[in-house]
Amino acid sequence: MDRHLVDTLREIVGPDGIVAAADQRLVYECDMLVYYKGTPDLVVLPRSTAEVLAVVRRCLDAGVPIIPRGSGTGLIGGATAPRGGVMIGVNRMDRILEMDLPNRYAVVEPGVINLALTRAVQDRGYFFAPDPSSQMVSSIGGNAATNAGGPHALKYGNVAHHVLGLELVTGTGDVLTLGGPVAERPGYDLTGVAVGSEGTLGVLTKIVVRLTHAAEAVRTAVATFDSIEVASAAVSRIIAEGIVPAALEAMDEPVIRAVEAGVHAGYPAEAKAVLLIELDGPAAEVEVQAEVVARLCRDAGSLTMRVARDEAERALLWKGRKEAAGAFGRITHNYVLQDAVVPRSKLPIVMGQIQAIAARHGVVVANVFHAGDGNLHPMISYDEQVPGEFARALEANEEILRACIELGGTVTGEHGVGLDKAEKLALLFNADDLEVMHAVRRVFDPRGLMNPQKVFPSGQHACAPILTGARKPVPEGMWV
Ligand SMILES: Cc1cc2nc3c(=O)[nH]c(=O)nc-3n(C[C@H](O)[C@H](O)[C@H](O)COP(=O)(O)OP(=O)(O)OC[C@H]3O[C@@H](n4cnc5c(N)ncnc54)[C@H](O)[C@@H]3O)c2cc1C
Repeated sequence: MDRHLVDTLREIVGPDGIVAAADQRLVYECDMLVYYKGTPDLVVLPRSTAEVLAVVRRCLDAGVPIIPRGSGTGLIGGATAPRGGVMIGVNRMDRILEMDLPNRYAVVEPGVINLALTRAVQDRGYFFAPDPSSQMVSSIGGNAATNAGGPHALKYGNVAHHVLGLELVTGTGDVLTLGGPVAERPGYDLTGVAVGSEGTLGVLTKIVVRLTHAAEAVRTAVATFDSIEVASAAVSRIIAEGIVPAALEAMDEPVIRAVEAGVHAGYPAEAKAVLLIELDGPAAEVEVQAEVVARLCRDAGSLTMRVARDEAERALLWKGRKEAAGAFGRITHNYVLQDAVVPRSKLPIVMGQIQAIAARHGVVVANVFHAGDGNLHPMISYDEQVPGEFARALEANEEILRACIELGGTVTGEHGVGLDKAEKLALLFNADDLEVMHAVRRVFDPRGLMNPQKVFPSGQHACAPILTGARKPVPEGMWV
């Protein structure tokens, strides 16, 4: 990387804000989908919007790619630098700038950890509702950039429903303020455009988030079933009854075994499948709904149902769910974690198909998923030391994704697109749709220097040949 640029960036962020040594930059070569690797030429760790802006402007002048990064827990190959460039890590921008409980919002810097915000307000009866299972470590900037979900997205929605406004340093070298705490703003919903843009429009430097008041009562239960298909069928019954639980999560036998071995969450070890069901709201309503849900589960074939007796038991049940992916990682060498969606009524069918695909490719697939949203996370196990196993896992992964699309689903539920799904967008959108998205991106990032190669199956991408229809040429100098 050009010495003069490195020196200029060091002057902006200070010597302790630069990661230049090759071995230290390796930490930033991938996110949690570790098979996409690309080490940045330099990592900078600014402390303010002014520093981000100055870094972005210098990189634009030099024509160098810019890759925003939060905590690096993404599962899409998003915060990685396949063509090098300057990575902007926002971890040192971790202040809660404003807290307005009467108006139920907070203004945070992008490096604030998701759970830290809830911890800052929970004594006063509030919480930040989006709760990706990575909430102990993922950043609110990363959550907003990926439009993260989580177990409670069923009732409370994804991050998009909780972002009221943003500050964005764009790929034009400007600072934009989008939206804000006051509701019903006129004009285009540019906040909505920026949420989920995965760093391709700019660097999020402030986020105005909604704070939610905690419910009067919460009830959490674990129901067991003798197959994941039967458990999945119970999910549709509950929702069809007009009840929207706060969370409705499913786990199959391999996941239950892994969780019990690693986390000891108290799930019945002999169960073939469990549903973790949480209801919240006014106490009287929760009481009535709990009885209805228990009856519906029984009717659907549940074998047992245990309600958490106290907060400690509830927390343990959730620990099992939130650490399920890590627990499965303890008992398998490697795995591919997929994120796809089917209409929830198709869950029993897709569960059967996944098992058939796994058997055909000779791989183990474990399922832990946001059942209420039809949002699947099959984990396909392989051993990278065994020749051919990774390839078989990827084939199974591809087939599962296509099965979801054929059932009327989509290729990403909450993790985003990144490098991993960029090609797959062409399965869902035609060339005209993609060109409109590209045109929006060019407004914010005319040179394509913001997180290049992510999200878009653009002209030079591998998926281009399967796009149909006319395609406008990618502008000169645009990184793709
Ligand atoms: C064990 C585990 C469980 C998970 N569970 C869930 C879950 O339940 N739900 C869910 O949705 N996800 C989940 N994830 C995925 C991941 O945690 C989320 O996508 C999270 O939102 C990423 O946040 P991050 O700070 O780690 O972002 P990173 O991984 O650093 O970045 C993610 C993307 O956002 C961009 N980005 C980051 N910060 C900024 C910024 N300030 N400005 C602009 N762009 C930015 C990056 O360029 C990248 O494209 C899980 C991951 C793990 C490892």
